[in-house]
Amino acid sequence: MSKNRAKLEIKGISDNIGLARVTVASFAAQLDFTLSEIEEIKVATSEAVSNAIIHGYGEGEGSIQITLELQGEELIIIVEDYGVGIEDIEQACEPDYTTADRMGLGLVFIDSFMDQVDIESQLEQGTKIKMVKSPEKSKKKAK
Ligand code: ATP
Ligand code: MG
Repeated sequence: MSKNRAKLEIKGISDNIGLARVTVASFAAQLDFTLSEIEEIKVATSEAVSNAIIHGYGEGEGSIQITLELQGEELIIIVEDYGVGIEDIEQACEPDYTTADRMGLGLVFIDSFMDQVDIESQLEQGTKIKMVKSPEKSKKKAK
């Protein structure tokens, strides 16, 4: 059972990236994260939401669902779009790989900033990225 849960449904436009960042950061503040860990969570959130907007919906428009959960000492963030989907997830996660003439680093940042990342995607159905992170402090305590 989760300790806490929240859902945010937004229109997939760049004006909403800031809203997603502050919402996730505020939810994350329930755990004992350092400021730099919160910053990493904000970057991972922006990158996932940006990907949904830029790649998932491209020129089109659609909605993005962000689900937040606290389970024990774990923060779980799920960012879901209903756009074009990713053909090859392994390739998408490689550094420098981009289909939009960008840096190709968003998924690399997400992977380095979060403890666990899991991507599910289906062509023409959409993409769901699940990211999990616990405060470093809580990991030390558990040892
Ligand atoms: P950057 O994030 O550095 O601006 P980028 O977005 O191209 O560049 P990544 O975030 O690493 O790089 O994503 C790599 C590729 O994975 C994208 O170019 C795109 O092809 C695909 N991708 C990522 N997220 C999605 C998504 N939500 N829907 C469809 N394709 C995606
Ligand atoms: Mg990206």
